[in-house]
Amino acid sequence: MIIKQFVITSFQQNTRIVACEGTRKAICIDPGEKCEDIVDFVHDNDLELQAITLTHGHLDHVGGTADLHIIFPEADVILHKDDEDLYYGLPQQPLFMGIAPHQMKALGFDYADPPKLTRNWIHGEIYAVGDLKFKVLHCPGHTRGHVVLAEETERKVFVGDCLFEGSIGRTDLPGGSYEQLMDSINGKILTLGDDFTVYSGHGSETTIGREKAKNPFLTGVYQMTRGKFI
Ligand SMILES: [Zn+2]
Ligand SMILES: [Zn+2]
Repeated sequence: MIIKQFVITSFQQNTRIVACEGTRKAICIDPGEKCEDIVDFVHDNDLELQAITLTHGHLDHVGGTADLHIIFPEADVILHKDDEDLYYGLPQQPLFMGIAPHQMKALGFDYADPPKLTRNWIHGEIYAVGDLKFKVLHCPGHTRGHVVLAEETERKVFVGDCLFEGSIGRTDLPGGSYEQLMDSINGKILTLGDDFTVYSGHGSETTIGREKAKNPFLTGVYQMTRGKFI
């Protein structure tokens, strides 16, 4: 598996090109903003970008979809249906982050309408990228339609903003739910296996085993109810 990471946007978001070495088929997971290095990487490595795959609909994960799709118009654009409102509402998303309309352009948050989705993720489906087989797991909590992509042979999982090294995704934005997020992490992500490498939407790589042992949200160090520490 080829994994190339680009840390972009003012949110230090991890955009990745993930490809099958043998077939050169590739996906871009979460293009956060326009980035010519991503396009160059695809071309320079003789990859075929089959899809722009989105873990969820937040602006720092989908903001580069329109520009990337202009260059790769044949690529599918895939998102879970429960995040379609976020995705198609991209130009309005800065408002609920407290950015005023007159500030959007200066701060780099003036988004065009994103391209039409080609299709939606379905929980439990196997999504093939050449010889790679990703299991799609619907993991709501950070957003309603968040998914993670797990490659069981390679033991790698792309978790977006569900889980981070030493932390978990925020649940205070529209559609967020702490209870749902913990159910998703405990019931769907941690059960994949301790040896899985975890690729998060922000920050460093980690493993499921390490997070089970050290992440204070998972070890019980932080006991939270209804979003408040007790
Ligand atoms: Zn997010
Ligand atoms: Zn994010």
